[in-house]
Amino acid sequence: MSETIFSKIISREIPADIVYEDELALAFKDINPQAPFHCLIIPKKAIATVNDIRKEDREIVGHLYYVAGEIAREHGFANEGYRVVMNCNEFGGQTVYHIHVHMLAGKPLGWPPY
Ligand code: 5GP
Repeated sequence: MSETIFSKIISREIPADIVYEDELALAFKDINPQAPFHCLIIPKKAIATVNDIRKEDREIVGHLYYVAGEIAREHGFANEGYRVVMNCNEFGGQTVYHIHVHMLAGKPLGWPPY
């Protein structure tokens, strides 16, 4: 798999505003926020798209959602609510090919997202 901007954030070649890190995941603020709080939660393992998640990746991917809950509790968004979403390929709006959970919080969010 080719290197993406997110692998460079993991290796600290590119700076980011990091809000969470552990052995499996990294979370940092989105450079172009779409809500008052918008962070991206990524696995340290490079997986290009949701289509590329393998059986052995289930713990890693589940962990990303656990991290979202941790961040929500820490930043006070757990009760009022927030959105966690992954985009896949062109029609899903994916632009960086290293899977990531968008976590959007801090205001009521519209649905559907178009
Ligand atoms: P996607 O469109 O793939 O679902 O989401 C990619 C996200 O990555 C976008 O929301 C975009 O703003 C964000 N992004 C792209 N490049 C960078 C970067 O260099 N740093 C940070 N923090 N976010 C980035």
